[in-house]
Amino acid sequence: MSDTIFDKILRKEIPARVVYEDADVFAFHDISPQAPVHVLVIPKHKLVKFADIAQAPDHVVAGLFKGAAKVAELLGLSEHGYRVVSNCGKDGGQTVDYLHLHILGKRRLSWPPG
Ligand code: AMP
Repeated sequence: MSDTIFDKILRKEIPARVVYEDADVFAFHDISPQAPVHVLVIPKHKLVKFADIAQAPDHVVAGLFKGAAKVAELLGLSEHGYRVVSNCGKDGGQTVDYLHLHILGKRRLSWPPG
């Protein structure tokens, strides 16, 4: 498992605009936001990609999804809605090999994605 920029952010070796942290997750603003709110949520128990959830302990998966929902609530996105996305692998457009959920909100998002 290679060391990624998100490992370094989690270890606080490089700065990030932190939004939320608990025992299970770490959330910070995306450096290149694609919506007025664009936050990334990563599990503290490292997984490389969304597909790895199939083999992950249940508490890790539950912690990640509960953490993401808490972050969205914290950011005031619940009333108007938001999108949660995880790009998986090459075809999914994943560029950082550390599983992360994108939370995008505060604008009307189109569908389907490109
Ligand atoms: P993905 O393409 O789904 O793997 O998403 C990776 C995301 O990480 C992209 O939206 C990037 O803008 C974001 N990103 C890359 N480096 C950083 C960083 N140092 N701090 C915050 N977000 C980052």
